[in-house]
Amino acid sequence: MQIPFIDLKTQYESYKEEIDKEVLSVLSSTQFIMGPQVAKLEASLSAFTGAKYAFTCSSGTDSLLLALMAIDIQPGDEVITTPFTFIATAETIALLKAKPVFVDIDEATYNIDPKLIEAKITSRTKAIMPVSLYGQCADMDEINAIAKKHNLIVIEDACQSFGAEYKGKKSCNLSTIGCTSFFPSKPLGCYGDGGAIFCNDDALGEKIKSLLNHGQGKRYEHKYIGINGRFDALQAAVLNAKMNHFEAEITKRIEIGSRYNTLLNSAKVVTPTIRADRTSVFAQYSIRTKDREAMAKKLNDAGVPTAVHYPIPLHLQEALAYLGYKKGDFPISEKVGTEIMSLPMSPFLTTEQQDFVVNTIKA
Ligand SMILES: *Cc1c(COP(=O)(O)O)cnc(C)c1O
Repeated sequence: MQIPFIDLKTQYESYKEEIDKEVLSVLSSTQFIMGPQVAKLEASLSAFTGAKYAFTCSSGTDSLLLALMAIDIQPGDEVITTPFTFIATAETIALLKAKPVFVDIDEATYNIDPKLIEAKITSRTKAIMPVSLYGQCADMDEINAIAKKHNLIVIEDACQSFGAEYKGKKSCNLSTIGCTSFFPSKPLGCYGDGGAIFCNDDALGEKIKSLLNHGQGKRYEHKYIGINGRFDALQAAVLNAKMNHFEAEITKRIEIGSRYNTLLNSAKVVTPTIRADRTSVFAQYSIRTKDREAMAKKLNDAGVPTAVHYPIPLHLQEALAYLGYKKGDFPISEKVGTEIMSLPMSPFLTTEQQDFVVNTIKA
């Protein structure tokens, strides 16, 4: 048995007719940039999350960059975030010559530990950027309360958590700005690069919309220095077809994630902790084991692919060495980075495939 890590093939085959129809409609309309497919998707994304504004853009990374640009992050400003995430989280802060200031994670959820945030706030701190890692939201209430007290803005890096719920509200609509990614392997993936930015504030909405299109207001009138951060109509067409199935996919993801948790209960691995007041959409289903190399080999030999998200915390990355962090600065991130490992996960993972993965782990 060879099990796919993320089963995009079965997904496409299941919705092929609808996806092909939407994509072909864009091809025959020749409206490739913005247009009705993009507008339709933005309306569904706004309705889905409850956020007043949803702007699609070129990638999850650009959604973070645009959010930081929209709140006017300047060189020398500090943005507090987690070192246990994908590089894009800190990369976008650094790209604006602002300073990523790291705070270690909670060992149970792998998300930023709100208890450690206040100690890192200085007069230069402008924003907090929690990451909703693996599909589970960070402690947004605690983080928003700290931000309110210190007059900071909270940007949720929800690149892995689109569709997740936190106290009955949707990820991406839990703070001043929410950012997500439609990279193919994310919970809502398109067939290339893409992302979206969410907010409820009118002035911020106007600015984000303009920034992602060269700071343009009226055509060829440029109010801000922006970027070409637009989303393709062809990708919007793919997502318009997939949105019809997204709720059902989330249900499957939650079912499969909890089934993994139950089945792996008796195995010598640490399974994900999902807080009672939120859901995870399991962008990754990640376990921890002290013996990762051997476990990965055993699984790979049996035809079960695995991955590591993420082996090197950001404070130990060469590109960010100038920040001056050293080994030992964020012990929980470092420890989790040596033990974490992701298993095959998708709404199309069959019970038989999942049993095979679990039995291989337990063997
Ligand atoms: C995927 C991801 C991003 C970047 O999204 P892209 O669409 O690949 O640019 C940013 N942050 C996190 C946490 C991610 O998982």
